[in-house]
Amino acid sequence: MVEDCIFCKIARGDIPAEVVFEDNEIMAFKDLHAKAPVHILFIPKKHIPTINDLQGQDLGLAGRILGVISKVATSLGIGLDGYRVVVNCGRNGGQEIYHLHFHLLGGRALSWPPG
Ligand code: AMP
Ligand code: ZN
Repeated sequence: MVEDCIFCKIARGDIPAEVVFEDNEIMAFKDLHAKAPVHILFIPKKHIPTINDLQGQDLGLAGRILGVISKVATSLGIGLDGYRVVVNCGRNGGQEIYHLHFHLLGGRALSWPPG
């Protein structure tokens, strides 16, 4: 837990969020400013700032998050049509919140490349 981290606060239940999945290590909740009909953020409950900070057992946790994303996408009915998983890292990646999170975007055709 990092005191001023908004996603740590959501993971602890100190700030409300529309939670769509939760287990002992992972939480998924709707993005506050959805960029697509389905826009969900998947976080490790543990504070890991960026994908660059993933090491050791946390790499396995990141793999588990990908498995959960696929299951949630399927349960929401966007598995077959397809979707995008995004991890923004650092300034050039456009990361705004420095608690690792995976965006799940779907429900419409997404353009490529991103801006
Ligand atoms: P990023 O630019 O990858 O760091 O994305 C941060 C995302 O967090 C943005 O899409 C925001 O809309 C989203 N966000 C910020 N605050 C909240 C919140 N309290 N609940 C849900 N999503 C949030
Ligand atoms: Zn945090």
